[in-house]
Amino acid sequence: MLERINYLKNELNKYSYNYYVLDNPLISDFEYDKLYKELEELEKQNPLLITPDSPTQRVGGISTGFEEVKHKYRLYSLDNTYNYEELKKWYERITKEIGKNVDLVCELKIDGLAIALTYNNGLFVKGATRGNGIIGEEITQNLKTIKAIPLKLFENADLEVRGEIYMPKTSFEKLNDENIRNGEKPFANPRNAAAGSLRQLDSTITAKRDLSMFTYTPIIENAEYVPTTHWEGMQYLKKLGFKINPNIRLVNNIDGAIEFCKEWENKRFELDYATDGVVIKVNSFAYQNELGFTSRAPKWATAFKFPPEEISTILKDIEIGIGKTGAVTPVAVLEPVNLAGSIVSRASLHNFDEIKRLDIRIGDRVLIKKAAEIIPKVIKVCDNQGHENLPLYRIPEFCPACHSKLTTIEGEVNLYCINPYCQDVLKAKLEYWVSKEAMDIDSVGPTIISKLFDLGLIKEPIDFYKLSVEDFLKLDLVKEKSATNMFNAIQQSKKKPLSRFITALSIRHVGKETAEILTNEFPSLEKFENSSFEDFSKIDGIGEKIAKNIYEFFHDENNLKMLDEFIKLGFKFENNSSERTNELAGKTFVLTGTLQSMTRDEAGDKIKMMGGKTSSSVSKKTSYVIAGENPGSKLDKAQDLGVIILNEEEFLNLIKK
Ligand code: NAD
Repeated sequence: MLERINYLKNELNKYSYNYYVLDNPLISDFEYDKLYKELEELEKQNPLLITPDSPTQRVGGISTGFEEVKHKYRLYSLDNTYNYEELKKWYERITKEIGKNVDLVCELKIDGLAIALTYNNGLFVKGATRGNGIIGEEITQNLKTIKAIPLKLFENADLEVRGEIYMPKTSFEKLNDENIRNGEKPFANPRNAAAGSLRQLDSTITAKRDLSMFTYTPIIENAEYVPTTHWEGMQYLKKLGFKINPNIRLVNNIDGAIEFCKEWENKRFELDYATDGVVIKVNSFAYQNELGFTSRAPKWATAFKFPPEEISTILKDIEIGIGKTGAVTPVAVLEPVNLAGSIVSRASLHNFDEIKRLDIRIGDRVLIKKAAEIIPKVIKVCDNQGHENLPLYRIPEFCPACHSKLTTIEGEVNLYCINPYCQDVLKAKLEYWVSKEAMDIDSVGPTIISKLFDLGLIKEPIDFYKLSVEDFLKLDLVKEKSATNMFNAIQQSKKKPLSRFITALSIRHVGKETAEILTNEFPSLEKFENSSFEDFSKIDGIGEKIAKNIYEFFHDENNLKMLDEFIKLGFKFENNSSERTNELAGKTFVLTGTLQSMTRDEAGDKIKMMGGKTSSSVSKKTSYVIAGENPGSKLDKAQDLGVIILNEEEFLNLIKK
């Protein structure tokens, strides 16, 4: 027992040091929390074994070199749980103590760095990190560089607030790209990047980093208005000029809070900042006082933590994937683990340079991460004792499918298989042709394609259009009805907009967006065929490399023959110039939720046919947000910014006009 306790204390202290001081976590939060709970449980059973250096006796971070300041009000930690049963038990405990049901406020738990700000007479005078909760580090100068922190409030109040400093995910990715380019170490996650940026001794460096803050605790000392509940306090903070997170809800029991947690479990991925859970707080300040604190955390609040976005597992093998352009990429084969609610056994390893940079070896324990709808990625090698003894990974020299020698292309990180007859490249092109982004023929999936290919019925996309219903019936388990469905879906696709056809052709560097830019300028295949390299490179958004690829594609004899054959097979693109209109010119639309009468992609095509634009994020420049069923946080953002919101019926009326 004592041995296990000592082991846990040592391990947790080591992990904390790497997390808080070096901004370089060695394991995921989920795994840290599991070890922490185990230690807490063992100490509960054996209180005589608790020592002052135990991580359970510490409130939060560790100091790291700035001037220390004693906090006027202690900054506590938060108890947390990963399950709803424990949330219910927590609510039962507090309602029992208060003697009746209490209202709760639910807020997103922002995964950043806690700080405390002091305002005297409406002026920002001091800012400090949480430190150990009693003593923090004074970082006023650095905090003054953050625009979301008001230097002067709209009223002359004396108060202290707490908030979370965070770095938006997009800025984090940019910063890491830059670090990698300059040969510096990238940060493991946005939280570490925010912490590292904030603790710069030179505040001009902090100023260059994109940091922001959500404020979540008001301690009002002297002001014109004295709130009596947390909810009122938050509204008052907003009025004083603080930035508060818009995703906040007042509920009247724990079921309401659980509903909020469930809603955000998936929606969180749409946000541009990291959130690792929901903080649930008793609303009334009077009840908060009655409930008080344990030695570590308030009894009147708790955190529900989302299923982990990051987890570690063993890398069993590295397989090679081949894409439609012949790009050869490594894929991690993993010991299956549950990540954010689903079992993951494969993850992306980006490219071979990345494997070298991270020194990833087969047999390593690696940290993997999941983001919205994206396949999980391997981020780094974890603290791994046997690592040095594992053999270095050897970059393949030959294509695993056709065995031809792999080559590099100038200016590109990937390795390529340039054999035009390589069956894996051909299959990847066929799969891309039917994909959502390209011709969107969803009844024909990779398994069907592979079977058709192996039977010699298709080799290139044009062969889809030569298939008969009988051909589909030659495949195992395919019955008349699905054969007819697949045949019809393929025939229907002949009417898709030209931009989808251009996307589907898999011309190097010409994805969906580039194809849209191109077809706006060249609305017919003839225009593509009759234009010069200069015509292409003149277009805004088309660089020389892309212009060259397009020009060469449309001036290759074999390709021209193939395009001709497509037309002879009955291709008639829906958005040729005569069908394009410009009623929606200058308007930008954002689509969220599920529409009943069409997919979001189809709605996007309609908007573009009428001269409008679509975007994936809401800003002040957005003209309309179209909200289908179960809309995401884009709807909240639209409400916040006062953007016009249309339901499906209103949208249909708009495009009918
Ligand atoms: P915590 O991060 O679990 O929760 C408390 C913190 O939540 C507060 O201090 C505040 O900063 C933050 N917070 C965000 N939004 C909030 C809101 N709306 N209202 C109130 N608070 C909000 O606890 P902690 O003590 O800061 O850190 C401990 C946690 O850190 C552990 O549970 C673990 O997950 C992680 N950790 C990980 C490692 C690792 O190696 N991976 C090491 C040490 C700690």
